[in-house]
Amino acid sequence: EEKLIEVRHLSKSFPIKKGFLSRQVDWLKAVNNISFSVYEGETLALVGESGCGKSTTRKLLLNLLKADRGEVRYRGENIYDLNDSDMRRLRKKMQAVFQDPYASLNPKWKIGNIVGEPLWIHRKGTARERKERVQELLSLVGINPRFYDRYPHEFSGGQRQRIGIARALALNPEVIIADEPVSALDVSIQAQVLNMFRRLQDQLGLTYVFISHDLSVVKHISDRVGVMYLGEIVEMASTEELYNDPKHPYTKALMSSIPLPDPNKRKDLRFLEGEVPSPINPPSGCPFHPRCEFATEECKTHAPATHDLGEGRQVKCHLYNDRFTGEGEEMDVQM
Ligand code: SF4
Ligand code: MG
Repeated sequence: EEKLIEVRHLSKSFPIKKGFLSRQVDWLKAVNNISFSVYEGETLALVGESGCGKSTTRKLLLNLLKADRGEVRYRGENIYDLNDSDMRRLRKKMQAVFQDPYASLNPKWKIGNIVGEPLWIHRKGTARERKERVQELLSLVGINPRFYDRYPHEFSGGQRQRIGIARALALNPEVIIADEPVSALDVSIQAQVLNMFRRLQDQLGLTYVFISHDLSVVKHISDRVGVMYLGEIVEMASTEELYNDPKHPYTKALMSSIPLPDPNKRKDLRFLEGEVPSPINPPSGCPFHPRCEFATEECKTHAPATHDLGEGRQVKCHLYNDRFTGEGEEMDVQM
């Protein structure tokens, strides 16, 4: 499999004023030294609670924010080194889909013009060709192309999300970065939209980076999952392995908070205790230690390394120290 995106040691912090009139700042570590790859044709999910750095990661991937350290390579090219015209070329390849389609659809525009706008901006074809392409895109996402002249408010939430996806597909992207794309929808509609994502992936050969707080959604769409906590990736695994056998204590806790259909399994339920700590002054050592039932003294003072468990599986936790083959330094693992 070809590596489409490679993220190496990516970090991003934001200054937060200590007070309204203060010149002093605290630093919020939104993304802290994360590395992962996205392979062509796969769906990689990034999952975690709010404040874990998922949306900052999305902006870094799309070059809407510059990283403080680290790089994002797209087919080998560091996107932060691209000039404006190369970046415009790359923007066609990487498209974003958001949680609230209504906010991203101009209410005063007909949906045909909304979906066709990227074609117009990039001067693709004649007006007639653009209209045909838009009708094709609407059909592709399951919207009747005869609704071309209707307005966003005439559609349901699920339909509006389909319209947003049609727009994202207009320029034939290779990658869709979807940030909570079904979170605003009813559960019954979520399943339909997720099925559409899968169908489009097969039909168009798309690669997805799927960002979500919802493990039950991620389970149905992803091939691999990176679990994020306070700006770090604490576990990376194939979806099957992650759900069958979570390794990191945080992943275990997240899993046990998913409602299980099998009542016999409910006795294993352990709920996550406590709030997510502030990323402004994150806990020392392992950032999960205040909430971790396995935490030791070492966890309070020493950040764990990322341990490679083989077969593409990594976990950042001292419980796996016996697997650690480095010499006191974090391994430069390939995720
Ligand atoms: Fe828990 Fe320690 Fe592992 Fe962190 S390193 S998840 S505190 S056992
Ligand atoms: Mg797939």
